[in-house]
Order: sequence, then C-alpha cells, then structure tokens
Amino acid sequence: MTELQVDPRVERFTSESRRMLIDGEWVESASGQTFETYNPSTGEVLAEVAMGTTEDVERAVRAARRAFEHGSPWRKLTPSERGRIVWKIGDLIEENAEELAELEALDNGKNVNVAKAADVALSADQFRYMAGWATKIEGNTLPISAVTNPGAEFHSYTQREPVGVVGQIIPWNFPLLMAAWKLAPALTCGVTVVLKPAEQTPLSALRLGELMQEAGVPDGVINIVTGFGELGAHLAAHDDVDKVAFTGSTEVGKSIVEASTGNLKKVSLELGGKSPNVVFNDAPRDSAAAGASHAIFFNHGQCCNAGSRLYIEKDAFDDVVNGVAERARNIKIGPGMDPSSELGPLVSQEQFDRVSSYLQEGSAEGAETVVGGGRAGDRGYFIEPTVLTNTSGDMKVVQEEIFGPVVVAQPFEDIEEIVSQANDTTYGLAAGVFTSDVSKAHKVAHRLKAGTVWVNTYHVFDAAQPFGGYKQSGWGREHGHNVLENYLETKSVCIEL
Ligand code: NAP
Ligand code: MG
Repeated sequence: MTELQVDPRVERFTSESRRMLIDGEWVESASGQTFETYNPSTGEVLAEVAMGTTEDVERAVRAARRAFEHGSPWRKLTPSERGRIVWKIGDLIEENAEELAELEALDNGKNVNVAKAADVALSADQFRYMAGWATKIEGNTLPISAVTNPGAEFHSYTQREPVGVVGQIIPWNFPLLMAAWKLAPALTCGVTVVLKPAEQTPLSALRLGELMQEAGVPDGVINIVTGFGELGAHLAAHDDVDKVAFTGSTEVGKSIVEASTGNLKKVSLELGGKSPNVVFNDAPRDSAAAGASHAIFFNHGQCCNAGSRLYIEKDAFDDVVNGVAERARNIKIGPGMDPSSELGPLVSQEQFDRVSSYLQEGSAEGAETVVGGGRAGDRGYFIEPTVLTNTSGDMKVVQEEIFGPVVVAQPFEDIEEIVSQANDTTYGLAAGVFTSDVSKAHKVAHRLKAGTVWVNTYHVFDAAQPFGGYKQSGWGREHGHNVLENYLETKSVCIEL
C-alpha cells in the first residue's frame, strides 16, 4: 500500500486548532473547549476543532440576522455582483482542489482521487451552476380579475425575496459536497446562513469558509459552527431562524420538524433511503453487475441514494449475483490517502458498530452471506463489501437503511411483482433500472415512487438535475431551479391604479 504524502497546506490546516466562523471572524468556542476529529482509516486523531455551544449558535444567528438586515453590505449587492461571488467560490474550490480532496480523504476516509474527481469537482460545479441563477430570480405580472372590485383597475405582480436567516445542517458522507449543495443556492438567493457540519467531518467546510471569505462574501453572511447535534437542535428550534435545510437521517429529520414548530420556520429535508435497483433479464449481465456494484459500493455504501436493495429477474439472478460478488471480492480496500484504494473505511466507530450489528441480525434472521460479512483489516473502520441473499421483505436488512457496503439481492418474476416490491418501503429517494427494453425502462421509471430514477446507470448527479425524496426520504428538492424554492418567499404586490 502506497499512501500519498500529505500536502503541506493540509498539514498546516490540521496542525492548528480550527476555529469557527462567526461574523467574519475565526473564533474559539464560547466555552473555550475543543473536540477531536479522527482519521477513520487509522482511528487516529487528525485535528482539534472548536466545540461550539448553544451560545455560539446565538452569536452566529445574531450575526446572520444583522447581515440580512435591509441596507447591509450583502443586501446592497446587485444580483450580478452576488452571482460573481458565487462563481468565484467555484473557481477557488477548483484552484484548491488537491488540498480539499486530501482533507476529505483524511477526515472522511474516501479515496483522495475520487474526492477530487467527484466531491470537489461537483462542489465547484454546484457554485458555478447556481451563480447563473442569481440574475434570473424573477416574479410575474398578474392579469387579475378582482371580482370583488368591479370597475377598478390594478397592477399586480409577484416578487421573490430571500427567506431570511437559514440554519443548514449537513452529514459526514460527502462533507464538502453537502456544504456546497446547501451554500451555493443559499448565497444565490441572498439569504444568510448558520451552517453546522457533522461532528465527524468538520474540516472541509471550515476550509470552504476561508475560500468564501476570499471570494468576497461579506461578514456574517455565512457562519460556521462546529460541534455536536445539540447545536443543530438549537438552530432548528431557534425563533430567529426563518428556515432550516437539513441532510441526514430520517430520525433526526423528524426531530427537526418537531423543533421547527415554535416559530413555524420553513423546513427542507434530504433524508435516508433504501433504494431499489432493478435488473431485468434483458440487460447485458456484465454491465448490470458492474452497475449494481457501483450502486452499493461507491463511497463505501455511505450514500443516502445507495442501491441497497438489488432485485434481479429470476433467470439472470445467479449470473448477476455472482458478478457483483466477484467484484466485491476484488475490490481493493484501503485508506483514503492510498490512491489505488477502491473501498475506504466507514466514517466512525459508531457507524462501524451499526453496520456490524445489521450484518449479525441479517445472519440471525436467515440471510445468506455470499461474500463479505465482516471486518476488513485490524485497524480503522473497514467493513468488507457484502452481498446477502435469501432475504425477505420483512427483514430489517431489507427494510432499514444500513449505510454501509451491504446489498441484499432478491429474485423477481414479473413487472407487477417488482414494482410492488420496489415500492414496499417507507423511503423514496432513488431507484435504478437496468434493461435494454426502452419501453420497459419508461414504464417502470413512471411507476417507481422515487425522486430520482437512473436507467442503465447509477449515481449520476448534476447541479441541473433535481434531487430529493418521495415519502420519508424528505421534503423539497435540491439542485436545478427547484432548489431556489427552498430559500425564497413569494410576495404579491397589488396596486389600485
Ligand atoms: P444524523 O444524526 O442525522 O446527523 C446529520 C447531521 O444532523 C449532523 O450534522 C448531526 O450533528 C446533526 N444532528 C444530530 N442530531 C440532531 C438534532 N437532534 N437536531 C438537529 N441536528 C442534529 O446522521 P448520523 O448519526 O451521522 O448518521 C446516522 C444515519 O443517518 C446513517 O447511518 C444514515 O442512515 C443516515 N445518514 C443519511 C445521510 C444522507 O445523506 N441522507 C447522511 C448521513 C447519514 P452531529 O454530527 O453532531 O451528530
Ligand atoms: Mg473525521
């Protein structure tokens, strides 16, 4: 195993205790305390980070409120100026791609080259895509009839306004990219933000905070508080926060909805999934097996949209399961900084324990382990890529989100059966279909209750393509012009002439 030398800029960033960004200043926590973030490939401490308190959230919300007030430097910017700042952040992400990719590889465990080609590249693209929308947020003029005011004449129009102070809470599976998905549209719409990264992976968001300052984001517009879930809970309940945007587990998503009721703040949620991936007999077996492996093993299975339930038409079942198992056997497991590693560690001891207990429960309930099923190596949080068969719809491993490199494979016989099985879940985030029959592809895509359906591919994300969940996978959509709805209010102005 040849691990890359850590870039000196990354050394610098991790060797100093990292502070939080509040009102344009890098500050210690109000308590003066710090916590440690770990490299999950080794279990060793990577860096020290300020342990924010609810008092820090208070400071950050006050700063965000001031930055949002009428006449503030941020509110005075023209849409074109705002768009240029957003674009510039994309440029700076690209200019610092190596450093950001290494931070991601060290803090999260993902392969450094994949982090650069996917997480960092998609983050830069998210800002650039959104930048163009800053000048295109517009209302309508309305030809109203006003039946209650016969004879009167009106000029009526709508305008779109930024929603206000926004709390953004993000997870650890794509730390930089999740920050980009949230911050790019928020800045584009002109809101101000308090961002809370996940406790496991705070570093890349903090580096992004520096880049946003460099791009010219005024003080107080983006505040970043680091620490634990109580900060997120405090943001979600805060009476002076107008909206919360959350990505993470469905369980925490529900608690955010409850916390939001005090001031009925707006809420958007991107939650978990248990996405079906459906392989028909007419699909080329090899590319279906390759697609099914990628669907579950990419990012070590830590994707909300992972293709974790693999349904294969009966006659193709053995071939495709063997194809996925063969790939699983040959996947190179290794740390994020080994560029040849294809599967990294889970993010934490907690996730390692969670996934391990699903594996044990699966076996206890009668699932058969075709490949994998246990720990890999003797340090770090590595789990072998795993294929389970002989499962049924009522088992926990089939119903619940495992969030690791574990796929359950089941055979099916016809379209009616598979549509009903695929939709037999409380989630509805994504789905895959592999077939060479174009008509079947469309028919099944129409009937799957999922926010995204990939056909003959998987994990294709684009800033222009809306993403979000049906059912308990969430509220609202990210990406595309759809995401702007999350950060805007609509005002009707009606003038009697
Ligand atoms: P999580 O608890 O939902 O955490 C996501 C974010 O929410 C983190 O920033 C977390 O802070 C924060 N948070 C925790 N409790 C909160 C609360 N009561 N109010 C507001 N914010 C709160 O996810 P996790 O524990 O890291 O992972 C557990 C499971 O969530 C995974 O196994 C997976 O099923 C799912 N998950 C889904 C996604 C996704 O992309 N949809 C991503 C990650 C995880 P802390 O980091 O301090 O806890
Ligand atoms: Mg870490």
